[in-house]
Amino acid sequence: MNDSGMNTSQRADWVAPDCAGLNFYDCDQGLNLGVARYLSADLRAVVEPHMRELGQLAGSRLDELARVADRHRPVLHHRDAYGRDVDSIEYHPSFTEMERIAYGQFSIHRMSHVAGVFGWPEPMPPLIKYIFQYLFVQGEFGLMCPVSMTDTGITLLRNTSTRDVADKYLAQMLSDDIEQLYRCAQFLTEQGAGSDVGNIEVVAKPDGGQWRIFGDKWFCSSTDAEVILLLAPRKARPWAAKD
Ligand SMILES: Cc1cc2nc3c(=O)[nH]c(=O)nc-3n(C[C@H](O)[C@H](O)[C@H](O)COP(=O)(O)OP(=O)(O)OC[C@H]3O[C@@H](n4cnc5c(N)ncnc54)[C@H](O)[C@@H]3O)c2cc1C
Repeated sequence: MNDSGMNTSQRADWVAPDCAGLNFYDCDQGLNLGVARYLSADLRAVVEPHMRELGQLAGSRLDELARVADRHRPVLHHRDAYGRDVDSIEYHPSFTEMERIAYGQFSIHRMSHVAGVFGWPEPMPPLIKYIFQYLFVQGEFGLMCPVSMTDTGITLLRNTSTRDVADKYLAQMLSDDIEQLYRCAQFLTEQGAGSDVGNIEVVAKPDGGQWRIFGDKWFCSSTDAEVILLLAPRKARPWAAKD
């Protein structure tokens, strides 16, 4: 009620309240019901306090950090003070703090790959990871792209890479220490192959014991990641070609 005797929400200048300060886990009835229904009691007892913690952060600190990061975009530095090519990217501390929350505090990129996250003796079922992603993106959306590329990059390296490549990169991709972590980027998209990624034309050809890549890629997030994967079959659209 205000001086005019009206409820605030009845005034012409009323603007609906935003979600700042809410706990996005506690206030999400559907999510709570799903967690109660689909998680075993043991697993629920372990993960629910962390979901609640992330739900609180998503409505408060993470939300604040995301707003600050949006106002202080990454800065590309082509050269260092000596004029040498470096092409490094400088991030605002608000972005780095969000990375610590995602990779360090909640291990979203690695929780379904390693045992021990939150003290659980096995890798988390993917459903748990998706719940953490769902909570996180309600505070900050963009960072989930690099986090998810690191998560899926781990799967790719585990399933498809040679032993020496896996040995070289996997341990650090699975780290929860942001100073040690190897984040992963993935080049898939081309001008003629966005939604229809099967239309890609970049190819990889063997040449003297190594692979050479031919063609153009168009879009990639997290381009200063420590591990970069690029999608390039031996033949463009091998499934379509009959020659
Ligand atoms: C924030 C962000 C981060 C990204 N990060 C990466 C990255 O790290 N690595 C990477 O490789 N790419 C990345 N991309 C690119 C992304 O993968 C492509 O933008 C996406 O695949 C869509 O492709 P496109 O932009 O070429 O649009 P198109 O595929 O050309 O689509 C254009 C429009 O047509 C519609 N459309 C497409 N196909 C159909 C269909 N069959 N039926 C009906 N409608 C259709 C789409 O909905 C859209 O409205 C990123 C994009 C964004 C926005």
